[in-house]
Amino acid sequence: MNKSEAELKQNSLFIVNSVLDHIGRASLYEQSVHRHDGFIYLMIRKDAKKYLVVASENGITVPAVFKGEVVSFGDGNATICELSHEHAQAIRERFDFTRAKLIGKVNSYGFGDRLGNAGPAHLRAVRGTGFMPVLAQQSIRELERTKRTAKEVMDAAIWSVFQEGFHDGFGADGDHLKTKKDIDLMVKAGYTMLTIDPSDYVVNDAISMSDEEVQDYYKKLPWGLLQDQPEALLNRFKNTSVTLSDGFELQTTHREIMTGMVKYGQVITHTKSLADYIESAYPEHPAELELSVDETSRPTTLFEHYLIVSELHRLGVELVSVAPRFCGDFEKGIDFKGDLDQFRSEYKQHLAIAEKFGGYKLSIHSGSDKFSVYEVIGALGGGVVHVKTAGTSYLEALRTIAEADPEFFREILKFSLGRFETDKKTYHISAGVDKVPDPDSLDEEGLLGLLDDDDARQVLHVTFGSVLSGDLPEAKHFKTRLMQVLEENEELHEKNLYEHFKKHLNPFL
Ligand SMILES: [Zn+2]
Repeated sequence: MNKSEAELKQNSLFIVNSVLDHIGRASLYEQSVHRHDGFIYLMIRKDAKKYLVVASENGITVPAVFKGEVVSFGDGNATICELSHEHAQAIRERFDFTRAKLIGKVNSYGFGDRLGNAGPAHLRAVRGTGFMPVLAQQSIRELERTKRTAKEVMDAAIWSVFQEGFHDGFGADGDHLKTKKDIDLMVKAGYTMLTIDPSDYVVNDAISMSDEEVQDYYKKLPWGLLQDQPEALLNRFKNTSVTLSDGFELQTTHREIMTGMVKYGQVITHTKSLADYIESAYPEHPAELELSVDETSRPTTLFEHYLIVSELHRLGVELVSVAPRFCGDFEKGIDFKGDLDQFRSEYKQHLAIAEKFGGYKLSIHSGSDKFSVYEVIGALGGGVVHVKTAGTSYLEALRTIAEADPEFFREILKFSLGRFETDKKTYHISAGVDKVPDPDSLDEEGLLGLLDDDDARQVLHVTFGSVLSGDLPEAKHFKTRLMQVLEENEELHEKNLYEHFKKHLNPFL
């Protein structure tokens, strides 16, 4: 600790003690103490609620944007502020490290946080691992289901890095963006990683089309937007055998090229048009693009991966990461199901393609709890990876509820079981309600054990929207009570999250 840090610490302790004298029992988040322009900023917790304190040591009033209860002490005064959007904005303006930035082609980990209170534990888990955190990772679908706004999600990230004094930088991921409107929303809220999801443009039927149908479709592709000619493209790919860095030879047939373009041609043009839009509409905004094709019905073949990125490369679209649909099953909230040897050998080849086009990251979507896959990737030790998780943090919140308030957990579980058949529709899962024991037949230990049961995990995982949105009368009080129990049991919640994410990160280290 250097002299100014020691001084800051001492002054802030004096301020904290003075503030605490006035407001009674409260505790300081020690890493949150920061100085800016003569004022001291820090965060405290009182009655299970967090506040920002902005203090002046010499009687100057704190900037007017910070509103709240004012307390005076000696020569100084302090304003105790709610963690509002306005205050988050004011913090973001003053402290560079609270602004999301570009992460680049380095290992990174996405921590979706549907409740907005998991960030501090995420940051503690990732600190010192060499992985860059991507906070505020939320898809449009998640925003709709949780009834949160892109701004709120970003605010939660700002408070998390501020509270933890996390100065190493973080990214923010607008996940699965499909339209210009989605992009506007995310850019305006300060998101820097933009994940383009062109899945609406995938022609899944291509594979089952007759040769003539493929031929017809191929001819009608938007060649102008592709800045290409049907024959020229064929000639470029035909008979080319590409040797990837690991010695693997990528060979292809006429039919594969045609089918690949029918299936992904408009994925390429749509991605290009969104990339162009970002550049022209927001020239000053730092943005890095991920392309996600993970939500297709079949695994992305090596040639399809090669075709998509080589064409985007030709069209000048720079990608920071690509999410193919890998082999096997990446179901929500449980480990990988499938052939790990096949995954290993295909992953290596996907990696070699990535290397050929600028060394972008391979992005693992539905990354929650894929421990056996992490082991494989970690052991390979090559390339760069991005992992996206979200639901697993919600499940750790529920684990905390099951420990701290088992009856409330039982209530959520019963509700989730009732919602499962409806809510599972948009998900890729294999759980069945009949495989989960009757909640009323379980004691507290039995209830807690369900957080380690694949079927129960998936039931709880896919019903998060119904639990959190409060749309249904029987769930109206869930979110408020859930947040309250978690706030009251902050330490337990953070311990659960921290330990769980250490398990996620360790296989890579
Ligand atoms: Zn995805």
